[in-house]
Amino acid sequence: MTEAPRQLTLEEWDRRYEQLDQAGLIQPRYGGRLSRHLHDGDYRLAKLRYDNSPAALRLWNFLLTEEDRLREARECGKRVVGTMKDLGTVPVIAYSFSNLVAFYPDGAWWIPCVMELSAGLLEIADSLGIDESFCPVRAMLGAFVTRCHFPVPDLLVCSAGAVCDDFSAIAQRLEDLGHRILWWEVPHRPVPEPNEVSVLLPGGLPAPERQVDLVKSELLRVKEALEALAGTSLDETALHAGIKKANEIRRCLAELRRLVYTAQCCPMPALEMLIAEMLAIHYCSDRDECLRVLEALLSEVRRRIASGVGVLGADAARVFWVNPVADLRAMNLLEACGGRICGTEYLFTHALDAIPQDRPPMEALAATALADPMAGSSRQRAERICRDIGEFGAEAVVVSRIPGASHCALEGWTIQEVVRSKMDIPILEIEVPPVADAAGPGLRTRLEALVETVKRRRRT
Ligand code: SF4
Repeated sequence: MTEAPRQLTLEEWDRRYEQLDQAGLIQPRYGGRLSRHLHDGDYRLAKLRYDNSPAALRLWNFLLTEEDRLREARECGKRVVGTMKDLGTVPVIAYSFSNLVAFYPDGAWWIPCVMELSAGLLEIADSLGIDESFCPVRAMLGAFVTRCHFPVPDLLVCSAGAVCDDFSAIAQRLEDLGHRILWWEVPHRPVPEPNEVSVLLPGGLPAPERQVDLVKSELLRVKEALEALAGTSLDETALHAGIKKANEIRRCLAELRRLVYTAQCCPMPALEMLIAEMLAIHYCSDRDECLRVLEALLSEVRRRIASGVGVLGADAARVFWVNPVADLRAMNLLEACGGRICGTEYLFTHALDAIPQDRPPMEALAATALADPMAGSSRQRAERICRDIGEFGAEAVVVSRIPGASHCALEGWTIQEVVRSKMDIPILEIEVPPVADAAGPGLRTRLEALVETVKRRRRT
């Protein structure tokens, strides 16, 4: 049942669901009404606005059933790997084994938002000495203590080195609580010296070859631990197949981003796109279904573009967004203020860029891990942001600070400095807490002012 694209409340989605169901909508096993997730305590869902397509319904249901999927995987005899911090590389190795499933406990980041602080995870983190001077990822500690949000993994793997202080401290606290962690190092990525042998990383930045070799040796240790857990060895052919599959997902997502962020009329809202981008990190615990979910979104977007329709007015201000938001509602707010997303940098561009398939697999994965925007300087990160702003034709930038995040204290300033030196577009820096209702009026005023500035500049 095709309907003109628009955004719906949760209540409106229930009515739409009824119509789609009666019209014979075919759904995956995890399908159903979105409102049923309220019974899990996901109260924020009642305050969000959703795209009205069956593809978006499938995306949300896929996201909101991940805990069930992890438990089922364990019941079916699979071993569960908790990968932490590297965002996108270790899962490629883990999913190359047929009996491993990997997820990011870091995803607990969003539980305070989705459950509107009702789960008490931040209070538990407080009681463990990890207070609000840390970023919302501290909710992960509470999730390990309550054991209510994901199964405790059979193996925990965490990247260290060139990562934020917040995560290092929180993961060390987790280890103090008795959860053994396999640490592996991603060193800082320096600019190669003039005569140094260098390697071009996915995303286009160079790195000294010695750094890639170091990360490769670290990843080999991770691979050995995964082999021990899986009870089987992983040969190059299987790993290569895992990379190929990861690239299928990355290519599908790249096309989705290109189409949505460059279309004249926005064909898919910011919130659904944020979730779609996040899927690339660990496939929401089902790699094959992840690809099907993204392909469904891509078909919907292609259909809308071909029909010249979208969810927002064609005059929406084209905004490039930096950093993920702790409160998902902020993405709806941007659109309510007259903006749309045209380009993002959510701290995991290395999980979006294709993994090289013409190099030995472990070397290719090492290059991918080293391309992490956090492994290099804020200036390098800002240069990539400038390149992507140009590619997607954004007219303004929002740098969204994460409360307590150590990297957010100064990086916004560097990003603004670099963007201003290279392009003539307005930049706004805001901070979005996990439940931003109290900050809402202030955020609205500032986003409206940014949108007005963009529209005034179009007239001059
Ligand atoms: S400080 Fe930033 S990079 Fe570190 S865990 Fe928090 S959001 Fe992620």
